Amino acid sequence: MQLVSDYFGCMVFDDSVMKSMLSEDDYNTLKRTVKDGRSLKLSVANAVASAMKDWAIAHGATHFTHWFQPMTGITAEKHDSFISPAKDGKVIMEFSGKELVKGETDASSFPSGGLRATFEARGYTAWDATSYAFIKDKVLCIPTAFCSYSGDALDKKTPLLRSMEAINRQAMRVLKLFGNEDVTSVKTTVGPEQEYFLIDKELFKKRKDLVYTGRTLFGAEPPKSQELEGHYYGVIKPRVQAFMNDLNEELWKLGVLAKTEHNEAAPAQHELAPIFATTNIAADHNQLTMEIMQKIAKKHDMVCLLHEKPFQGVNGSGKHNNWSISTNTGVNLLEPGDTPAENAQFLLFLCAVLKAVDEYQDLLRISVASAGNDHRLGAHEAPPAVVSIFLGAELTEILESIEKDIPYDTKEKELLRVGVHTLPKFPKDTTDRNRTSPFAFTGNKFEFRMLGSSASVSDPNTTINTAVAEVLKQFADELETAENFELALHNLIKRVITEHKRIVFNGNGYDDRWLAEAENRGLHNLKTTPDALPHFLDEKNIALFTEHKVYTEREMRSRLEILLQSYCNLINIEGKTMVEMTRKEILPAVSEYSRLLSNTALSKTSLCAELDCSYEKETLAEISPLTAKAYEAVKTLEQALSNANKADGAQKLSVYYKDEVLPVMAKLREAVDRLEQLVSEDFWPMPTYGDLLFTI
Ligand code: ADP
Ligand code: MG
Repeated sequence: MQLVSDYFGCMVFDDSVMKSMLSEDDYNTLKRTVKDGRSLKLSVANAVASAMKDWAIAHGATHFTHWFQPMTGITAEKHDSFISPAKDGKVIMEFSGKELVKGETDASSFPSGGLRATFEARGYTAWDATSYAFIKDKVLCIPTAFCSYSGDALDKKTPLLRSMEAINRQAMRVLKLFGNEDVTSVKTTVGPEQEYFLIDKELFKKRKDLVYTGRTLFGAEPPKSQELEGHYYGVIKPRVQAFMNDLNEELWKLGVLAKTEHNEAAPAQHELAPIFATTNIAADHNQLTMEIMQKIAKKHDMVCLLHEKPFQGVNGSGKHNNWSISTNTGVNLLEPGDTPAENAQFLLFLCAVLKAVDEYQDLLRISVASAGNDHRLGAHEAPPAVVSIFLGAELTEILESIEKDIPYDTKEKELLRVGVHTLPKFPKDTTDRNRTSPFAFTGNKFEFRMLGSSASVSDPNTTINTAVAEVLKQFADELETAENFELALHNLIKRVITEHKRIVFNGNGYDDRWLAEAENRGLHNLKTTPDALPHFLDEKNIALFTEHKVYTEREMRSRLEILLQSYCNLINIEGKTMVEMTRKEILPAVSEYSRLLSNTALSKTSLCAELDCSYEKETLAEISPLTAKAYEAVKTLEQALSNANKADGAQKLSVYYKDEVLPVMAKLREAVDRLEQLVSEDFWPMPTYGDLLFTI
């Protein structure tokens, strides 16, 4: 048997491989260049490329690709083989430093939100050397950033890397004030917990809605759903376990630290969590995880659904983004310390997150906004659309005692002075886990829970990093000029708590009373994507991103355009799919069944007038107006979809889809779902929720 420790990372061109295959000089130059974020000398690039090629070929690769994350939210790759013609009709395998460092690609079919003029369709990809190259399906994949020739970011990785630089710059200033002379850089870390559904492939293929949109657009509630709560952490079925084993193996070969697997709350729902990594690597790995989940599922005759809400009335899937900041010396800055100084530093970083989340609630909401996630946020199992922070009882009390100058521990009457006193020990919040909070402190990290399962983690982390960078900058500006550091620090922390405690909410986020309370506190409640997105261009938000050089204003405008467009496109596809299913499958089936009922009733009556036809007649009496209702709704939907092109501009169009199309879709669904309950299953043209959720 092969040991995991033997094959872990075997498909990754990682540090140990580089060390063994490069000359010491080249290796050191590469490491230094990566660390300083400069561009690689061509001679070194050539050496690295040649080593990479030899290694890749030895591991079965024939092609290479610049692997990048365009604005579609999934990854893109264009394969080029290593072959180059040689004498006598033979080929040799080649790969140059130039090909490694920079790739050219036709960018015209990727969303650019108007950034790219048609005459300049080219884009280029540049190696992100902080993320290792790897082999997937015989292709050497080189993680890259994707830009237009004018330098505008066309992907999700470039801004993420820029945001990591921004937070590094500002956190370093703050750390210097605490005398951390040994620290030379700070990185944010992310561990994304990934939820997903597994359903049978044959059943999947029979549902056009799943095939075209990844979610069911129709489907009556089955007799049993998740009310017995038997699935969460339940015994994993053999077929699912076989899938998970294969998945782990594949991920481990790629160096992904897949760690925890379990059944989730809904039937057929599962979760996978990796051990956390540096943010850009975590983002790459999460993309890989989602891709490989889908691939391995197919191998097991299943389909992995990553949609946020594949089934109405059943829990949706999210992605919990565990986030923290740590130093190159291995200190987690969100871990409470043991000494007064360590604790003061912890409190300052904690307050930075508090202030950042409060001031940029809208951006955080936007960073998870999508048509799919709109079905989830605010539904019964997901955090509400209101952003708030959970700190737990103890930490909240500590902050309160600092704010109000009251002793925390009533036995000792002493007041808690930041920087002078050690924080009282507070237990890590493990028992009273608040699962309903959108942004929860979990002892040494924050867990942002609003992400939909299919989302790239790049957008939310770009936002968190930049917002926290901005606040750290303000803190550093203030503290660097203070005459009495300790006093200034104490006052700063006290002020931040006073000004931003409104964002702290430890109660039940699913409770309607919270929504009323949140409104009183002046917190945003941006319920849907069209409600949230326009705030992206609020003055303070443009100022934030441009000041920290994460996005130019042009890039922000283009991104907003893309987000709005994809919202509209998605609903348009869903609407058209509903029309097709209703007209071509559902109504014909219902009509056929109605014919059977009426024929039966007629023949019974003609046979013998006394025969009871109540089932046939009453069912027909219910089916008939529902059929008319569905037919009316489908015509209205067709009309609404064809009127969409009259809306002027993407923003108005998104509101149109939300207000004019989604409600008609809901109406159509209501009629069809009731019909499903009345029509014989022999006639119903597609697998039901019961079939989909309970047959693996
Ligand atoms: P939970 O109690 O939420 O299951 P875990 O300790 O199992 O907490 O962690 C959940 C996720 O958080 C894992 O992916 C884990 O790697 C990640 N995580 C733990 N520490 C950090 C950190 N410092 N930064 C980012 N993610 C972290
Ligand atoms: Mg968790």
